[in-house]
Amino acid sequence: MAVLICGGAGYIGSHGTAALLDQNEEVVVLDNLQTGHREAVMDGAVLYEGDLRDGAVLDIIFQTHSITDVLHFAADSLVGVSMNEPLTYYDNNVGGALNLLKKMKEYGVGRIVFSSTAAVYGEPETVPITEDMPVKPGNPYGETKLAIERMLHWAGEAHGIRSVCLRYFNVAGAHPVHDIGEDHQPETHLIPIILQTALGQREKISVFGDDYPTEDGTCVRDYIHVHDLIQAHLRAVDYLRGGGESNVFNLGNGSGFSVQQVIDTVEAVTGKDIPKEIAPRRAGDPAVLIASSDKARRVLDWQPEQQDLHTIVKTAWEWHQRHPEGYRGGGAL
Ligand code: UDP
Repeated sequence: MAVLICGGAGYIGSHGTAALLDQNEEVVVLDNLQTGHREAVMDGAVLYEGDLRDGAVLDIIFQTHSITDVLHFAADSLVGVSMNEPLTYYDNNVGGALNLLKKMKEYGVGRIVFSSTAAVYGEPETVPITEDMPVKPGNPYGETKLAIERMLHWAGEAHGIRSVCLRYFNVAGAHPVHDIGEDHQPETHLIPIILQTALGQREKISVFGDDYPTEDGTCVRDYIHVHDLIQAHLRAVDYLRGGGESNVFNLGNGSGFSVQQVIDTVEAVTGKDIPKEIAPRRAGDPAVLIASSDKARRVLDWQPEQQDLHTIVKTAWEWHQRHPEGYRGGGAL
């Protein structure tokens, strides 16, 4: 029995790889290393460097290993880029998932946990957001994830492939034990960008808009620790193995922090002043995204352990200090 982790060398996927290895699962990683890092894949996993849209590499994996479950993290995931490159996003995200599902059907693999996103909700009418609220993505990234959710639904109806779609809110932090963390080139996510500013690698942070209808005018997001997020994936795998039917869950902490509050928290954790400038809004950004994760807590019996933003930032800061140049730099350990 082995678990295939598509995108298992990426930021979130590598934490999934580590968690499954930690519970002594046989782990096979497929990653095209476009944004993932070979060094992020912990010893013990078998790594295939290849693309999901390439049927041949999937044939080799499904013929070589007894894959019973799939975790699918591999995708392009930047809202801003997706606004300018929608077709690239459809090609990689929808095309990759389509090919994966075809091969799962061909090889009789019937369980998949899929990385979806809060971006499927677009600009929500109320928060916290529950899973039954309308989905109306405001950007191509969210559209591709929603298209895959629908594809999973129909593949379930017709071919018996059961799926859990996990709609992530804002994932941050680094592994509390293993030496893995967030390294995107170039970095676009708020917390690592502020940490790079704290390290002196950037002059200042650009705050994308201070005229949103929020308390301080900056966007509000729900930040969840990557370790907690991955624990929910383990619960989802168990849920499907236990016969659970296809389902959709939000993963967040249920509390919102503005961009300004995140900057304040990073200043408190690092003890550094973070210079900032107010910049124009970024296309495709909703004002407020806060999750209700009650359903995941109830159905998956999931309980996030590192909910405090200070703790989340602290684990990320520790990793960034050890790896100021990311995986490329090797690290100070
Ligand atoms: N953000 C910002 N400056 C940056 C990067 C992000 O003001 O350099 C804001 C962004 O507009 C959003 C929030 O920080 O409101 C979180 O953005 P991120 O890209 O980390 O995640 P997203 O919400 O897009 O998934």
